[in-house]
Amino acid sequence: MRITHRIGGKTWAGVGERTGDVYDPATGEVASTVDFASTADVDEAVAAAKGAFAKWRGASLAQRASVMFAFRELFNARKDELAAIVTAEHGKVLPDAAGEIQRALEAVEFACGIPNLVKGGFSENASTKVDVYSILQPLGVVGVISPFNFPAMVPLWFVPNAIACGNTVVLKPSEKDPSAANFIADLFAEAGLPDGVLNVVHGDKVAVDRILEHRDVKAVSFVGSTPIARYVYETGTANGKRVQALGGAKNHMVVLPDADLDLAADAAVSAGFGSAGERCMAISVVVAVDPVGDELVAKIRERIADLHVGDGRRPGCEMGPLVTGAHRDKVVSYVEAGVAEGASLVVDGRGHPIDGADAGFWLGPTLFDHVGTDMSVYTDEIFGPVLSVLRVPAYDEAVEVVNDNPYGNGTAIFTNDGGAARRFQNEVEVGMVGVNVPIPVPVAYYSFGGWKDSLFGDSHAYGPEGVHFFTRTKVVTSRWLDPSHGGVNLGFPRNT
Ligand code: NAD
Repeated sequence: MRITHRIGGKTWAGVGERTGDVYDPATGEVASTVDFASTADVDEAVAAAKGAFAKWRGASLAQRASVMFAFRELFNARKDELAAIVTAEHGKVLPDAAGEIQRALEAVEFACGIPNLVKGGFSENASTKVDVYSILQPLGVVGVISPFNFPAMVPLWFVPNAIACGNTVVLKPSEKDPSAANFIADLFAEAGLPDGVLNVVHGDKVAVDRILEHRDVKAVSFVGSTPIARYVYETGTANGKRVQALGGAKNHMVVLPDADLDLAADAAVSAGFGSAGERCMAISVVVAVDPVGDELVAKIRERIADLHVGDGRRPGCEMGPLVTGAHRDKVVSYVEAGVAEGASLVVDGRGHPIDGADAGFWLGPTLFDHVGTDMSVYTDEIFGPVLSVLRVPAYDEAVEVVNDNPYGNGTAIFTNDGGAARRFQNEVEVGMVGVNVPIPVPVAYYSFGGWKDSLFGDSHAYGPEGVHFFTRTKVVTSRWLDPSHGGVNLGFPRNT
């Protein structure tokens, strides 16, 4: 099957000079071929978006909200189809894909409230008979560049708010699982979104670089790994664009001695191995505060033994394959490095039973204990089913470990001590914090974003900060002349 761009409301009719393979990770087979956009193809998409902008920004808030409501209904009605697409190309198990889609739906529902979100302020009589008010206006053409690990949710963190605010979009999804983006674009078209308001170009660095350089692209929302997020931020801002670039993560779960260890072990396994660890909010490090280490590791080990790993379409499977063979091999190399660096390999995922085709990109859940902060299993974002346990003597050292880490996406504390939890939420240098909640992804009416190397830029994704990112403010100072106007005055305007 061939997967190609959606430009100006049409399926692209050109011939791709470069293409990429899209795998079914559970079988290891090439399932489709995706066109990689050239610079000229991106230019075509930007031109379509620019051409649609004037009319779309003029559409009333009621009209824009009505498209969003129609999309919400279609999306909700067809979410099972989309989940199947996500599972087929990403590999995550079907219930997990359904969870991603549910969170995406919430982001769409937030954007349905656009009339309420772009209200400006109004000050009557700021000066005598002078009114001052602010209006929020769209930016123009915006680029959205998304990663492989949430092929439906991450595009929908941005696209609904961007278009509801009156912008037009060029979306460049991951080339590893491109079909979800096309499905979404087709549903938006069916919902009545005018041609050119949402365009999808597929591809790699060539397409990304063109989006970053194109003078008609006014802003870029990016999600991906930290080195690319930094590059996108630096290049996009150097080209005069507004950029929010969300990067990678190394999320710590701190377990205090008074925690419920069964709850903590359940959480560590769920958040460590859900989606095979390919989540930016996955827990990859458990920080066990003495003396809980031995008991906690034993409980995690027991739970891992029961995990059903296999083809995400098969009933009962809890964890699927890695996204590509190359990525699986890289994750396996970290398992080897962890052993070589002296961590204790408590569970070796390479031996886990697999309910799927031999050629799938498998690695079972892997657990390391006694990990040191200088080991590569700790320092690097592995993005696979490898969970490390670090042991520390007390709360202070636990916070120190988390704060010394260059990433600051998510973290969690497990405790029954409200005072300790409150101190943690205050002291920890991380953007999203869970208290007895291992994956604290904010609801759609807050905003999502990490600190430090997990986010470049000052706006978090979706929610109120998303609306802020996709609009610019204009302040109007207005006086309607009346007979009392004071004639010529060269002084700086004073409010009287
Ligand atoms: P990635 O950085 O490899 O790719 C992300 C996007 O950038 C893709 O669209 C890709 O085509 C493009 N890209 C890749 N290499 C590029 C290059 N050299 N120049 C320009 N563009 C390039 O990330 P990925 O592997 O698709 O996704 C996993 C990463 O995303 C992990 O690091 C994960 O933590 C991160 N992530 C972060 C968040 C968050 O909210 N902070 C959410 C999801 C994923």
